[in-house]
Amino acid sequence: MTARIIDGKVIAADLRIKVAAEVQHLTTQHGLTPGLAVVLAGNNPASESYVGSKAKATKEAGMRSFDYRLPDSVGQSELLALVRKLNADPAVHGILVQLPLPKQIDAQAVLDAVDPAKDVDGFHPVNAGRLASGLPALAPCTPLGCVILAKTVHKSLAGLDAVVIGRSNIVGKPVTQLLLAENATVTITHSKTRDLPAVCRRADLLVAAIGRPEMVRGDWIKPGATVIDVGINRVPGENGKSKLVGDVAFAEAAQVAGAITPVPGGVGPMTIACLMVNTVRAACAIAGLPAPSV
Ligand code: NAD
Repeated sequence: MTARIIDGKVIAADLRIKVAAEVQHLTTQHGLTPGLAVVLAGNNPASESYVGSKAKATKEAGMRSFDYRLPDSVGQSELLALVRKLNADPAVHGILVQLPLPKQIDAQAVLDAVDPAKDVDGFHPVNAGRLASGLPALAPCTPLGCVILAKTVHKSLAGLDAVVIGRSNIVGKPVTQLLLAENATVTITHSKTRDLPAVCRRADLLVAAIGRPEMVRGDWIKPGATVIDVGINRVPGENGKSKLVGDVAFAEAAQVAGAITPVPGGVGPMTIACLMVNTVRAACAIAGLPAPSV
């Protein structure tokens, strides 16, 4: 068997077109132009690249983008003061503080300071709690993207055996909550799970969010299963160059799975598209408008 490749680039581009149409509707019909503020502290090159892509996507969707760059030496109180200013700014509907933050900063305290209504990353404990309670919430972007990709393969996830590898607050736990909300039967696994390959072999839907290059082998996968690979790992490639691989050994897994996301070009592009979705959802909720169609 050769798996169908789930093309995250195409699916994300389609979603971003839908977001742009929704933004145009909100702007023309309601005078509401959603705004996203992105805060970057320090000069981590990967973070700079992510922040640049987020700002570009925001503008392309017709939304306002507010860019805040702070030095690596920024203090906790200065960062908290900026978050409070953005919380109070009516032109800002989404606030994203790019992680990781410089080492002198208490990252949790900064995330906790973001108004939950503007928490488009979905990292605030209020949103995590609402998601876990089955209440409307801003959910983290990468997990949202994983579920959208899975639903391009399965009309309904109800009753599927889903296995999630990884229990981080950013991916593993929220993707578990979203899959539960879709009525999948979810097993969450982690570094202490016994006989992980056997647990994975039960999965109709396998989500790998581990951060270990190509750890999931082809013989861990149930024939015909859908595999969503969240991992992004830089490893040595040919000619002294590096390359990106996922947490799943793609070539092996694609021989067994029914459908699989590639790395790059799978989950990655969905994260920014879902950030755009969350910003539009936050803007509508803040303005007291009905939830958008995206
Ligand atoms: P994390 O380090 O916070 O969590 C990793 C999880 O994997 C932990 O819960 C741990 O228990 C589990 N784990 C580690 N070793 C294991 C093992 N041997 N067996 C079973 N479980 C094991 O990482 P994270 O933030 O959740 O990210 C996971 C991966 O997803 C990373 O490669 C990261 O770069 C990638 N990621 C991608 C996107 C995207 O946009 N595509 C977004 C976020 C994270």
